[in-house]
Amino acid sequence: MEALSRITNEELNQKIQFFVREERRITVEVLRLLREIERRLVYSELGYPSLFAYCTGGLGYSEAAASRRIEAMRAMREVVEIEKKIESGELSLSSVSQARVAIRAHERETKVKVSIEQKKSVMLKLSGLSKRAAEKVLAREVPVTLSARPVPQKQLATGDTRLTLDLTEEEMAVIEDLRRLQRKTQSTKDLMMNLARKEVAKKKRELGEASLVRESKQKVKVIAPLARKVLTPLAEGKASSGKNTRLFSAPVKRFAWRKAHGQCEFVSALGYRCEARNRLEFDHRKPVSHGGESSLQNIRILCREHNIFQAVQRLGAPVMARYLPGLGI
Ligand SMILES: [Zn+2]
Repeated sequence: MEALSRITNEELNQKIQFFVREERRITVEVLRLLREIERRLVYSELGYPSLFAYCTGGLGYSEAAASRRIEAMRAMREVVEIEKKIESGELSLSSVSQARVAIRAHERETKVKVSIEQKKSVMLKLSGLSKRAAEKVLAREVPVTLSARPVPQKQLATGDTRLTLDLTEEEMAVIEDLRRLQRKTQSTKDLMMNLARKEVAKKKRELGEASLVRESKQKVKVIAPLARKVLTPLAEGKASSGKNTRLFSAPVKRFAWRKAHGQCEFVSALGYRCEARNRLEFDHRKPVSHGGESSLQNIRILCREHNIFQAVQRLGAPVMARYLPGLGI
């Protein structure tokens, strides 16, 4: 490449115009590739629990850059016109992703699905607009009343504290997952308080603030059922919950959880182990339909994505698409 210091200002301008056009063309190409990678669950095969994890961990994008690309790719899938608009520079990735985020918030708030036609109309209105102008249009077109609506405030008892948390979708998913895994109907507040109390008790024990009597009692409580229910069937080499059941018994699940250290056990062909620690599910290594038992030897922990990926591998994409139309197959 010729030395940039020697070319004229006009040439400099022409050059940058050319490369910016190329940059946009390549961006759209990246979005197309991402769409195909998502459709074929390639990220899952490579050991990533989500397309987002693949974009950050496998492709090196920042979290924000990964989100913008994924949102834009999905917008492109829903509204075909978006592709040309991004390529021509009329629509930026951030406008498109902002629009999708606003539309989702609106859907959550109103519990009404926004049609593809409406989405198209909103997104195309953002053509050629700056970030700020796009925000204004979105506020007008997609009124998200979540923050605007005055929330009736309950009177607090003296000495009480009101705590308000703004959680992202991903953070809220972790809480929902925890609630599901605990299998106890409890409010978010109760869930958080129980966790906090447990953590306080644990820290106190670590710091020697709890009495030794209490600690030894707790140990007995945990070890005794494990020894009785898990270790005995293991020694006898039997399934702990009967041969013909699809369900794993609680001790088998506890054993599997500890063995996997609460992390998805999927390993890609290149030896990369999935790092997912939420949305985890218990899976039969050998499916029940193929004679697999609900035993210690046949249990493993997979994240939701890898459970789906394994099912697609076993049953084939057309079969799974019938059950999971959102899979994009
Ligand atoms: Zn996984």
